[in-house]
Amino acid sequence: MASRFSGALQLTDLDDFITPSQECIKPVKIEKKKTKTGAKIKIGEDGYFDISNGREQKLQKVEITLADCLACSGCITSAESVLVTRQSQEELLRVFSEKKYIDTKGNTKNVSLIVISLSPQPTLSLAARYKLTPEEAARKLAGYFKSLGADLVLDMTIAEDLSLLEAQQEFLQRYQEQQTDPNGKHLPMLASSCPGWVCYAEKTHGNFILPYISSTKSPQQIMGSLVKQYLSKHREVSPGEVYHVTVMPCYDKKLEASREDFYSDMMNCHDVDCVITAIELEQMLSNSNISLGDAPLSPLDWPWGEGESGLRSHAGSGSGGYADHVFLHAAEQLFGESNATLVYKNLRNPDFREVTLEKDGKEVLRFAVANGFRNIQNLVQKLKRGKSPYHYVEVMACPSGCLNGGAQARPVSGESGRELVSQLELLYSELPRAHPPSNRLVPRLYAEWLDGRDSDKARAVLHTGYHAVEKSDMALNIKW
Ligand code: SF4
Repeated sequence: MASRFSGALQLTDLDDFITPSQECIKPVKIEKKKTKTGAKIKIGEDGYFDISNGREQKLQKVEITLADCLACSGCITSAESVLVTRQSQEELLRVFSEKKYIDTKGNTKNVSLIVISLSPQPTLSLAARYKLTPEEAARKLAGYFKSLGADLVLDMTIAEDLSLLEAQQEFLQRYQEQQTDPNGKHLPMLASSCPGWVCYAEKTHGNFILPYISSTKSPQQIMGSLVKQYLSKHREVSPGEVYHVTVMPCYDKKLEASREDFYSDMMNCHDVDCVITAIELEQMLSNSNISLGDAPLSPLDWPWGEGESGLRSHAGSGSGGYADHVFLHAAEQLFGESNATLVYKNLRNPDFREVTLEKDGKEVLRFAVANGFRNIQNLVQKLKRGKSPYHYVEVMACPSGCLNGGAQARPVSGESGRELVSQLELLYSELPRAHPPSNRLVPRLYAEWLDGRDSDKARAVLHTGYHAVEKSDMALNIKW
């Protein structure tokens, strides 16, 4: 079965929850007295052959226990895999029918409000798969989820807007800090909305890379806070009784939702309880012998007062347009360029491209988009050698970004992966455009929910932190 995690996790064997790793290694000590020339042995499948005395010896059988797995951080840990399993389609259907769920702490909770948040990428994937327009696909998904028992089906534009606005602000702050502290790790600011990249950075590059990663939460997690804190209060439901499902393009988002950082002790729940992907929805529909086109139409809900629902795209990449938005804001705020244009130059490949801003003949900003594991590795190497010329990099684990997520619907027969991604890019570019600074819900949420734009509460709710996982140290500490 193809993995539905991003390439960054697959290629680094961090995804072996789905495909039990062939590389899982338990070191075995072979006692061998050294000869003058040193111990020379050849190891085969069943034993080792001692070249110095010509004898073959059988290797002892090695067992790897659950405790061994939990002690190792080499792949997605067993604890993480359990959390991810809690977000299966079977679990989702069970919650719809029983109106109960088991939270990450093992507590059974009653559900009185089921909220579904639709992100654009999987919705477009399903639109292409079932030959629907994006709007039809969104409304059919709303109808399908409502038929299963959902109370609200929402678009995520507001969370995407808040994430972009916070990222823009964070960049300005980091830029200023870099001027006063040129040796600090303020820039380049690296985008944080891709959990595949964040998981790879935490498990593979640890404390070296983490200070560069933007603290701004991803749209999924901002939506989570919005639903569990703000919406639940308005609906007079306790946050733990809200079951919040997001529809996403990859399994990596399940890992993100499961992070301890996104569990609130005060609310006693996670911000997102279940992530379901395009490919799982396709499977659910197929198991019920229906096509998405057969589902009833229902408008997306809009529980926020003034304004209207609907799928939106953001200018720039199909991963949310972080590089474009941060670039244009920085050009205006830092250099007074209110009409800067973005002309990207492809570097090694179309998945590594950069854009610059010149002022008075001098380059003042250099941004990049790095998609896919190979380009991420190049970027990290540049950073490690102190040779990164960038102020900001939109880093996404999947080649072509989120429209090509690991759990998007697969191409149909006769269609290439590239053709499908091009089709999704076109659909994304044709969606009505969001413009975060003009979103009238934004100032209201900052005022009503977050105590103002630069408040401690806004910082606590819209930002997060990262943690290095010291892989080698932990592995060496294992007592075999
Ligand atoms: Fe998921 Fe997008 Fe990251 Fe791919 S690039 S792992 S789809 S968040």
